[in-house]
Amino acid sequence: MNGQKIYQNLIGGAFVDPIHSDWLDSYDPFTGHPWTTIPRSSELDARNAAEAAYDAFTTGPWPSLTATERGVLLRNFADLLTGQASAIAAVETRDNGKIISETQVQVRYAQQWFQYYGGLADKIEGAVLPSDKSNIFNYTKYEPVGPVLAITAWNSPILLAAYKLAPVLAAGNTVVLKPSEYASASTLEFARLFEKAEFPPGVVNVVTGLGPEVGQPLVEDDRIAMVTFTGSEYAGRSIAQTAGTKLKRAVLELGGKSPNIVFEDANLENAANGVISGIFAASGQTCVAGSRLLVHESIHDEFVERLIKIARPAIIGDPADPSTQIGPITTQAQYRKILDYINIAKSEGANCVLGGHAVEMPGQPDSWFVAPTIFTEVTNSMRIACEEVFGPVLSVIKFKDDEDAIQIANDSKFGLAAGVWTNDMRRSIMMSDRLQAGTVWVNTYRAISFLSPFGGYKHSGMGRENGTEAVKQYQQTQSVRMSTEENVANPFVIR
Ligand code: NAD
Repeated sequence: MNGQKIYQNLIGGAFVDPIHSDWLDSYDPFTGHPWTTIPRSSELDARNAAEAAYDAFTTGPWPSLTATERGVLLRNFADLLTGQASAIAAVETRDNGKIISETQVQVRYAQQWFQYYGGLADKIEGAVLPSDKSNIFNYTKYEPVGPVLAITAWNSPILLAAYKLAPVLAAGNTVVLKPSEYASASTLEFARLFEKAEFPPGVVNVVTGLGPEVGQPLVEDDRIAMVTFTGSEYAGRSIAQTAGTKLKRAVLELGGKSPNIVFEDANLENAANGVISGIFAASGQTCVAGSRLLVHESIHDEFVERLIKIARPAIIGDPADPSTQIGPITTQAQYRKILDYINIAKSEGANCVLGGHAVEMPGQPDSWFVAPTIFTEVTNSMRIACEEVFGPVLSVIKFKDDEDAIQIANDSKFGLAAGVWTNDMRRSIMMSDRLQAGTVWVNTYRAISFLSPFGGYKHSGMGRENGTEAVKQYQQTQSVRMSTEENVANPFVIR
C-alpha cells in the first residue's frame, strides 16, 4: 500500500475491505506512479457480491417496487450524478489519464442515461394477445432476468457503467459491477451515489480486481443470471464461453478497426476534423477509433497534409489541464503495445509521416505518452490495419472507387463503426446499406447518444446498448394464458 486514499468494495450497501486484505495500486498515467489503492478481490468477495445482488433481487424491498418507483430512483440518481460530475470527472482523469475536457463532458452526459431509462422504466408495455381458442385470455409482460454482472473497460469507466446500469436497473434487475483494475476509482465514487439516491442495499454492488481472479468467478456464479461486458475480444470470448456453458445470456461490446471513409466530394475541412477526432481523441483509446482512414486516391496527398497540419501542433500534456488536447496512455502495458505496433508497421513497409515515437514529458520522466502517429502506404492486410492498436495511430489506405472502398472497409473481422464523408446523399445511403458496422456516421464521427442503439457486427460483439431495445435484453417475456372455462377439458389432450 502507498499511504494514499484507499478504496473499498461496495457489497450489500456497505463499503468493505477485500476478505484477504489484498490490494492493487492504481496508477496516475501522467506521472506513471501509483496514486491510490483498490481492492484486489478474490473468489470469496465475488461470492459475497453475488449473494448480496441475489438477496436484493429475491427478498429485499427492490422486487416489490413498482416500475414507476424504480424510475424515480433512477432520476434521483441522475440528479446526484449531475451534482458530483465535476468531482468524479477529476478522479477519472487522474486514474485513466483521459483529458479533463472530455471526462467533464462524459460524466455530465452519463446522467442522461439515468434520466432516459428512469423515464422508460414504466413505459415497457406487454400486450393482450388475440387467441385462436375460445375462453383463453392471454397477455404478456416483461420481467427482469435477475442479478446481472456488468464488466467494464478502463477507457470510459463512468460512461460504460451508465450504458449498462441504467437499462439493467430500469428493467428491475440488481447488479454487480466489476470495473477495470486499471481505472476503478471513479466507478467507486459514482457507486456511493446509489445509496444517496435511496436504492435499497445490494441492488448495486461493486467489486474491483483482476479479471481472472474476481471477474471469472462472478461469471461462473450460479446466482448471476446474465453478463453484460465491455472490453477486448479476447476476454469477451472467454466470458461468452463460460456464460454459454452456464446457459446465461451475454451482451458483448468488444473492439473495432473502424474505417473512416473520405470521398473526393466531401467537405475536406470537416472530414479532416472528423478523422482527427476519430483517431486522436482519448489518445486513440476508444473502441470506435477510426483507425483505418480510407481516402480517395485523387485527394490522398492533399488530405494527409491537412491531417498533419492539425495534428502536429496538438497540445500534448497534463490531462488535468483544460487546454490539453492529447493525454497519456492509460497503462504502461498499453503504451508498450502501441510502440510495438508502430515498429511492426515500419517493418511491414508502412510510411510514417507523423509521430511514430514516444513523447518525453518535461518533469514527468515515467509518464506514458505516444505522439499522434500517421502511416501512409498501408495495405489492408498489414497487421496495423487488421489488429486493434487502441492508441493514437492512424493507417491511411487509398481507394479507387465506391466498390473498392466497400470491399476494403468490410475486409475486417470487426464491425463496430464506420464513418462516411461525402456530400452525395445517394452515395451515403448506399454506403450505409453495404457497410458491415453497427453504427455508421455520415459527415460526423464519434457521436453517441443514449437514444441510439450501439453495438457491433461480427467480432465487435453481440447485443445492443442504448435506446429502447437495450432494456429488453435485460428482461424476459412471460406469457400468461388464463382459461375462462368453467370445467377443465380432457386432461389427456393438449390445450
Ligand atoms: P479487457 O478485456 O482486458 O478488460 C475488460 C474488463 O474485463 C476488465 O474489467 C477486466 O478485468 C475484465 N476481464 C478480463 N478478463 C476477464 C475474464 N476472464 N473474466 C471476467 N472478466 C475479465 O479490456 P480493456 O483492455 O480493459 O479495454 C480495452 C478493450 O475494450 C478494447 O478492445 C476496446 O475496443 C474495448 N472497448 C469496447 C467498447 C464497446 O462499446 N464496444 C467500449 C470501450 C472499450
